[in-house]
Amino acid sequence: MLEPNALTGAEIDRVADSRRRDPEWLAAQTGHPDARALVLGDAGVRVVGTALARVPLTEVRPDVADEELVLLGVDDGGPLFVVDEDPPVDGERAPLVGAGGMRGEPAPEAEERLGMRSAAQTLSQAEGGLVAYAGALLNWHRAHRFCSVCGGATAPREAGMTRVCGVCGTHHHPRTDPVVIMLVVDDEGDRVLLGRQAVWPPRRYSTLAGFVSPGESLEEAVAREVLEEVGVLVGPPRYRSSQPWPFPCSLMLGFHVPYVEGEIGGTDDELQDARWFSRAEVREAAADDSWDDPPEGDGLLLPPRSAIARRLIEEWLEG
Ligand SMILES: [Zn+2]
Repeated sequence: MLEPNALTGAEIDRVADSRRRDPEWLAAQTGHPDARALVLGDAGVRVVGTALARVPLTEVRPDVADEELVLLGVDDGGPLFVVDEDPPVDGERAPLVGAGGMRGEPAPEAEERLGMRSAAQTLSQAEGGLVAYAGALLNWHRAHRFCSVCGGATAPREAGMTRVCGVCGTHHHPRTDPVVIMLVVDDEGDRVLLGRQAVWPPRRYSTLAGFVSPGESLEEAVAREVLEEVGVLVGPPRYRSSQPWPFPCSLMLGFHVPYVEGEIGGTDDELQDARWFSRAEVREAAADDSWDDPPEGDGLLLPPRSAIARRLIEEWLEG
């Protein structure tokens, strides 16, 4: 039995109900003697050692009304908020919270801050899940300061679970973008198809992945992405598990999918290379866990254990 996916398992009641619209309830949370906040910003999440810092809300509270504070929920210690320590500046593009660039460029370093990508490997299961939740939510707030219907300014409501346009009144809800991620398995050949992007370190290969298109089922997205990226036809995908990926707000939906026919040769230019790897090659690569300091040589390197891509590969090895 494999562990739960990294970036899942937040131990918190998200209070995803009408209490968020009750001013009295909200005032009781913001004024609670044990109200605390996670602090996230451009350099990542504030930590103490290898644990999240839960700072008294009164120390970091921004100058906003109760209803504009972002409440993550209530955990064993009381109400837990999240505060953006680098709030977006009008007219400027807000970067992703603690993640550097979209393609994995490192976040700016700062003391007692942990980049979002490191969080999945450093923090406990539950704290990693909490960071994924807080990061995805703050990324959404940063990117939705203006109404997508009329262009008017929006403001947080429902303790950070909604933004409302001050001009046309449209309510905007946090979005999650579905991404299919799939391991193409050739049962007869006892091999799997992996690809690599040019920006990755040499020898690193991973599963294929892509955004679900509007009006498309997950099954259709898997088949289309595999065909576009590597030019082969696949059969019905089998769902395995999912992982939130807060860069900025994706949900990775993981599948194994059987190879049917075709030679490798995709039509988009997303991948630099794709090839089949034997079970022996993959097993040898999986034995190495030195993500930051991979061994010399010319062998395959896999994604880190914190990524669902790695889990899909490990499940195939175990199966
Ligand atoms: Zn509007």
